[in-house]
Amino acid sequence: MSQASFLPLVDSFGRVHNSLRLSVTDRCNIRCFYCMPENGAQFVDRNHILSFEEIHRLVRLLVEQAGIRDLRITGGEPLVRKQIPCLIEMLAGIEGLEDLSLTTNGMLLAEHAQALKHAGLRRLNISLDTLNETVFRKITRREGLDKTLQGIDSAIQCGFESVKLNTLAIKGITEPEVTQLVQYALDRDVMLRFIEFMPLDTDRAWQQDQVLTGDQLLAILQKVFGNVKPISRPDPSQPAEEFQISNGRIGIIRSITAPFCQACNRIRITADGAVRNCLFATSETPLRILMREGVSDADLLSTIRACVAGKAKAHGINEDGFQPPDRPMYAIGG
Ligand code: SAM
Ligand code: SF4
Repeated sequence: MSQASFLPLVDSFGRVHNSLRLSVTDRCNIRCFYCMPENGAQFVDRNHILSFEEIHRLVRLLVEQAGIRDLRITGGEPLVRKQIPCLIEMLAGIEGLEDLSLTTNGMLLAEHAQALKHAGLRRLNISLDTLNETVFRKITRREGLDKTLQGIDSAIQCGFESVKLNTLAIKGITEPEVTQLVQYALDRDVMLRFIEFMPLDTDRAWQQDQVLTGDQLLAILQKVFGNVKPISRPDPSQPAEEFQISNGRIGIIRSITAPFCQACNRIRITADGAVRNCLFATSETPLRILMREGVSDADLLSTIRACVAGKAKAHGINEDGFQPPDRPMYAIGG
């Protein structure tokens, strides 16, 4: 089918969805406390993880017939999935897909960056919460900050269209390093974005007062760098507010204190093949069994459209009675 005849994915509030986050695994090589449990993480049965062919079918269908234009590969840790550059190459070949990116903790990036670039990956987001090995161990319950730092440098050397750093903003952990982290990014000419901590941890220990807010971050940055200037945001579906700082830019994603739900254009597919219309959705639509039973493209697409149509107006984190989703972050795909 030609791309011109696609029918967009629209919800009942008129929001058009053209961005897909797809998880390729729920497994991970570290155990960040804000995402996974320290021990005993529950993983999906390996036979239930979508194959590369199943992923390719879904993405091609969504690009050709539903107007998906950008795809971010995530997890779990996507680089622990074997042969990931082969998947990237398959997806990069889909006509009409305008952007292909991946989010990683960076620990395996030094060995994979070149192959990913060669396969057609355009942009990388790398998570970096600390520059201190002791703090890294406290957050991730594992060793290996040096590997993440090597991964960042390898990615920069490979010449991706963009490399961005994601830093989770957590009160009591992030404040002492805000300045060093920003300076680290400025020195490498890459953008760092702070993300307000969200209630997606397996341990269900998230508390509102653990969120280091965008305003609090800006106050710290203003004191150190002076003159932190907001930059206008032409694309309202872009969650990061950007600020000019010193000789570069930083971003702040205020998922809690200034949610961007009204402009949300994202859908998600989990590693075991369920489509979700929101990170915080309390229900999801399984696709894997349908696909393995031979569902037609038309029926598969109408199942996805029905899921998108039922999207809630907003995530509701700040409202009474909010319930976090059944699946924690690593099992959804961040
Ligand atoms: N493993 C990869 C990584 O860490 O970059 C990709 C998956 S991870 C779930 C994607 C992003 O979600 C990371 O930037 C991570 O910091 C973020 N994340 C995880 N748990 C979160 C939480 N509770 N609140 C906000 N962001 C979270
Ligand atoms: Fe793994 Fe990423 Fe979750 Fe950390 S945030 S435990 S790196 S999936």
